[in-house]
Amino acid sequence: MIKRFWEIFLDYLRSGVGLLFPRLCVVCGDVLVRGERFMCSGCLCRMPLNEGADEGADEKMKEIVGAENIFWLFTYNRESDFHRLIYAIKYKSRRELGVWAGRMLGARIGAGHEIDCVVPVPLHPAREKERGFNQSLAIGTGIAEELGIKVEPDVLERVVNTCSQTGLNREERADNVKKAFTLKDAGRLRGCHVLLVDDVLTSGATTRACLAELRKVEGVRCSVACLGKAGKI
Ligand SMILES: [Zn+2]
Repeated sequence: MIKRFWEIFLDYLRSGVGLLFPRLCVVCGDVLVRGERFMCSGCLCRMPLNEGADEGADEKMKEIVGAENIFWLFTYNRESDFHRLIYAIKYKSRRELGVWAGRMLGARIGAGHEIDCVVPVPLHPAREKERGFNQSLAIGTGIAEELGIKVEPDVLERVVNTCSQTGLNREERADNVKKAFTLKDAGRLRGCHVLLVDDVLTSGATTRACLAELRKVEGVRCSVACLGKAGKI
């Protein structure tokens, strides 16, 4: 009887809080209903997911970036509402949203790729302090949870606080990040299949700069995972 009373009371409290502070879909802004988390069912249904239809383009992308596999969740386009998902993770400090989206990507990657660990693309310490957390680490944590593997957040370090890549052309992007990363405690990755994780893959410049460092590790294999893939690289 007392238990039932508390259940009703807590339900009442939750709906009161829900009315005052409704949870909204990060993409369309509609109020979420019970059972929905971060994104409404309508947006989940129309999300431009990677259906693996263009194998030729994927092969070319793997070659350009120099990765064994590239996994991505959805097509990223700044004109589309879905860019708000990345924006909310990065600029509104929605760490939990990053982990949630990472789990969604992890479930699509699935087992069978013999991946040993996740290495998130690091932020410069000054940028991380300003933002409060590294969005790639949040996404990577979700992927690692889903795949049951570990995260190695400290083996790759960002030693140059590069300016934003937004608005730069392909060459400028490559120059901007060329010497931005360095390896630390590389022995931990010896012989491992590493999954490098970033939020969005645009020109591939950041990915290539990170992979160039990771490849210095003896016997390492590298794959890449990102939430959004923008256009063609
Ligand atoms: Zn929505």
